[in-house]
Amino acid sequence: MRLVVVSNRLSVSLHRDGEQWQIKPSSGGLATALAQFLRQRGGVWIGWPGITNQDAAGLEAPLADAAGRFGYDFVPVLLSDEELQGFYYGFSNEIVWPLFHDLQSRCNFVPEYWASYRSVTEKFADVVVNTVRKDDLLWVQDYHLMGLAGRLRERGLRNPIGFFLHIPFPAPDIFLKLPWRLEVLESLLGYNLIGFQTPRDRGNFLDCVRKLIPHAQIRRRPGGHMIQHAGRLARVGAFPIGIDYKTFSRNAAESDVTERVQAIRAEWPNVQIILGVDRLDYTKGIPDRLKAYRLALQRYPELQRAVTLLQVVVPSREAVPEYQDLKSEIERLVTQVNGEFTEPGWVPVHYIFRELDHPELLAYYRAADVAFVTPLKDGMNLVAKEYCACQIEGNGVLILSEFTGAAFRLSCGAVLVNPYDLEHVADALFRAVNMSPAERAPAMHRLRRNIARQDVYWWADEFLSACLSAAQAAGADSTGSLRDPVEEASEGLYAWTT
Ligand code: UDP
Repeated sequence: MRLVVVSNRLSVSLHRDGEQWQIKPSSGGLATALAQFLRQRGGVWIGWPGITNQDAAGLEAPLADAAGRFGYDFVPVLLSDEELQGFYYGFSNEIVWPLFHDLQSRCNFVPEYWASYRSVTEKFADVVVNTVRKDDLLWVQDYHLMGLAGRLRERGLRNPIGFFLHIPFPAPDIFLKLPWRLEVLESLLGYNLIGFQTPRDRGNFLDCVRKLIPHAQIRRRPGGHMIQHAGRLARVGAFPIGIDYKTFSRNAAESDVTERVQAIRAEWPNVQIILGVDRLDYTKGIPDRLKAYRLALQRYPELQRAVTLLQVVVPSREAVPEYQDLKSEIERLVTQVNGEFTEPGWVPVHYIFRELDHPELLAYYRAADVAFVTPLKDGMNLVAKEYCACQIEGNGVLILSEFTGAAFRLSCGAVLVNPYDLEHVADALFRAVNMSPAERAPAMHRLRRNIARQDVYWWADEFLSACLSAAQAAGADSTGSLRDPVEEASEGLYAWTT
């Protein structure tokens, strides 16, 4: 079947430089993995091309050129500045993003955002309907497009459609605050398969369905849960996203990366490097991490001169005042910690505020003795997995927030922490730094084996085959109601981390 991927943005972004078009491919693991599937099966990527309407004239030629280069087609969804504000910056990033990361006090429930969200979703639906053929398999990505299935089914589209949510799904207490909660939930049930990162997210979603749509029938089946509602059957499953483990591991051993690792080691010869790598975002818990680090230096003075925190922050959404405030807060904390502890020959925090080039990132991953990954909440956290993949010497320690999706599988070797508990994080850091090679090696081995097994190709394969079987089941079952619905037992907080 031809695969049609639909996401908020295309896998390439376009930019006009005078008369010339610049096309930049996205570098993320997801784009790479999906691009590979699209090339193999033949495919199309539908999404916003990264420029608004007024700059979009003449876009067809560079997109056709990109199709030739990348091996699959690109179909743009053109948006005006106003639509981008309401749909992307407004509804998606000022409502869904904070709410789904359990930070409801940061939400702006502006009714106009919802109106804009609805109209842009209609626009996506029109483009999809005009693009797909009868036998296509559709894969819709992420929170911006939760509402798309409803609009597609209203237009009579019968193709198999899968949806994957890359961010967490909140518990009912939080989700129920969304003013448009029922519409969002009912639209999601138009997908044949709704995929989440972890069983925790899946369980939260099912709990929300039970609360808001009590007459929906939920049944546990071997491959996941089935929900029957309004004549439709949707399957719900957990598919933790992976990385391209082999490529990370192989590239980390390349000679240019090895030279950089040696240079980093020469720069900090007798200290353990503690590494933080995050996009500038309040969900990443960077201020709390800096506070925990300061506490560790105060509680355990032997850490002074023995460790250095290398904190990389990748600029993101800098036009948004909240993100500017976060940047200022991080800079203030870095200055405070350095002001309090710096001595001749030792600076406790090295702060980098820019995007690293790929070999540089891999070199930091490989050189770091400890990865300090403490988001307040995260759908998965790929940095944690990439760090382990690049630990080819196998001596590193992963400190990982228990509120990341990654903690679901990586509890087998990571030091799990509650990022809100600064004392606990400070103690965990001290413990990690003092772990012997004999403790580190088997833990890192378990982590690497786990990440290698469930890589991004495994993830995409699992999802797509589940989507096809869900669509087949829906075809067979769509008229009959499910007998004997079985409710699942609720999962305790630690059931999925231990
Ligand atoms: N990353 C990058 N350049 C950098 C630092 C990080 O491209 O300078 C990438 C990193 O390789 C990872 C992604 O950014 O794939 C971050 O993904 P993660 O899931 O950890 O967090 P997100 O930013 O998606 O919330």
